[in-house]
Order: sequence, then structure tokens, then C-alpha cells
Amino acid sequence: LKHIGVLTSGGDAPGMNAAIRAVVRACTHYDLKVSGIHEGYQGLIDGNFQELDARAVAHIINRGGTMLKSARCMEFRSKEGREKAYEQAKKQGLDALVVIGGDGSFTGASLFSKEFDIPVVGIPGTIDNDIYGTDYTIGFDTALNTVVDAIDKIRDTATSHNRLFFIECMGRDAGFIALNAGIAGGATEILIPEDDKEVDDVVAKLKASRDAKKSSNIVLVAEGDQLGGDVFKLARDAGERLPGYDIRVSVLGHIQRGGSPTCSDRVLGSRLGVAAIEQLMSGHSGIMVGLRNDTVTTETLHDAITKKPGINRNLMHVAEIVSL
Ligand code: ATP
Repeated sequence: LKHIGVLTSGGDAPGMNAAIRAVVRACTHYDLKVSGIHEGYQGLIDGNFQELDARAVAHIINRGGTMLKSARCMEFRSKEGREKAYEQAKKQGLDALVVIGGDGSFTGASLFSKEFDIPVVGIPGTIDNDIYGTDYTIGFDTALNTVVDAIDKIRDTATSHNRLFFIECMGRDAGFIALNAGIAGGATEILIPEDDKEVDDVVAKLKASRDAKKSSNIVLVAEGDQLGGDVFKLARDAGERLPGYDIRVSVLGHIQRGGSPTCSDRVLGSRLGVAAIEQLMSGHSGIMVGLRNDTVTTETLHDAITKKPGINRNLMHVAEIVSL
């Protein structure tokens, strides 16, 4: 093993830079050549490579996004596209690949590692925390803090005007962001895809909140929740049955993906970046490095993408109790 490539793919996440930095510095430490591949799998196909040394990744650990840029690449979904990527990898003299991304990126990485003789290790980088085999994905903690900060700000308005806010947050098909940020932000109700609450439940909870004399209410809705598909409609439907409430809707959007990574995401990115290189050096491929119980672990890419990480039922229980 002499030359390793690293790329970021899919949605960007704060802390990806910390992982890139760790990959590069681990390569420097172990005397390996490392190339940053720009714009994900598209850059792999096009040969958009840049050799990196330890100094090339200075001053990025504190920056959101990814210095290598990310891309969605349709071509890599086909066998022909992956063949082109392999030809390019060989042309550039790559011996192994580190892919930082979410489940889509890992699906591509898994196929690539099976089809060609090039070892691949994945690092979970997505704000959604929806990857099996790690307690946390890189970017999740930063996104949580951003959402909680936004809720706190909206809360000021909600309290000053006795308003009810429906806030939509990200999370794709999972409710990890909503459940955690909802508890931390003091939401009256949290709607997540793992639960099957109806408008009736929301209305009942808000009536109970009124009886309990809460002066402001926030309903945090995960974008993947069945009712959250259209948060404006949900607010209207609930509002019709909640006379006297002054209702507003706020969709948090892409602010959730940006910003300086938290300490936790920087440390996670650093640990997983080093682990990815050490796994490749030990001859492993087709795996993802993750963190469980504060210990670096590995999972097959196959399991990482096919198994579903379970939502923490205890958090749902706690949310019910502390919301009123
Ligand atoms: P996030 O969860 O943050 O959106 P992601 O990695 O899931 O990140 P995707 O857009 O789903 O983001 O995937 C990123 C890239 O991975 C795609 O643009 C494509 O190049 C590759 N990819 C996704 N799915 C497949 C697949 N089924 N086969 C091959 N490659 C794939």
C-alpha cells in the first residue's frame, strides 16, 4: 500500500474536513502518498486529483463543508461509470480509497470494492445519523447544536407573542435530529418517522399544554415524518382545531448543514480518519469505521447500508415526560 485517495460524497457535513485532515496526516505519519479527489465520485472518474501533504490540510479542522467539495454523480451508479473510475484510479496509481459520505456514497463504495481489486474503507459523514454501525455520524452533533440554537431563537418570539410554532428540521428518513434537538430545545411535541402520531395526537398534546399553562409551544417535525411531508398543511390542519392559537411555521433548511463543527464532530472526524488508514494498512476493505461506546469499531459496508440504526426508545419516553 503506497498511494491512498480520499473523497467526500453526497451531502456535505460539518466535520468532514477534520476527517480529511486526519486521513492526510495519518498517511504522512505512516509514510503513504495521499491524493484528495475533488467532487466525489465525479472527480474519481474525471481524474480531478490533488496530492496533499500535512500542511495542505492546515486551518480546515474548524471549517464546515468539505475542502474537497462534494457531488452527486449519476455516472457512478452504472457499472460503466464505475469502470471508468477504476481505470482512472489505476492511471493515477491509487492503491486504496477512503470514501467519506452517507448511505448512498457507501452503496457506491460497496459495489466498487466488490467489482474491482481496490480496497475501500468508508467514513460515515452525514448530519442525519442514519448509518448502522456507529453511534454517531460526523456532522450530526454540529447539526443538533444548530437546530437547538435556532429553536432557542424562535422560542424568544414564541414566548413574547404566545405563539405556537411548527418547526421543520432535516434528517431524511430518520428522526435522530428531531428527537434529540426536540428534547434539548424543549419542544412540546416531536414528530419523527419512527413514530406514527396523527394530527389528533398533536392537537391533544397542545390542548394538554394549554391546560398545563405553557406560554409558548414548539412542535418539531422531522422532514421524513408522515405529517411533516407538508409542515404548512400540518399547521393548518392542527390550527383549525386549536382556536385561539397564533400559529407560525419555520422550515430551518440548509443552515442545518453548515457552520463550524463542534468539538465532538472534530474529534470524531479525527478518530475515524486515522482509523480508516489503519484499517486499510491492516488489509481490510469493504468496511466502514465507526464509533460505538467510545471505541472505534468496524462494520461491513453491506451492513452499514442495509441495516437500520434503531431510534432510541428511551429518548422517546423521556421526550413524552419532559415536554409538559
Ligand atoms: P447524504 O445522506 O448526506 O445525502 P449520501 O452519500 O447518501 O449522503 P447520495 O446522493 O445518496 O448521498 O449519494 C452520493 C453519491 O453516491 C451519488 O451521487 C452516487 O454517485 C453514489 N451512489 C449513490 N447511490 C448509489 C448506488 N445505488 N450505486 C452506485 N453509486 C451510488
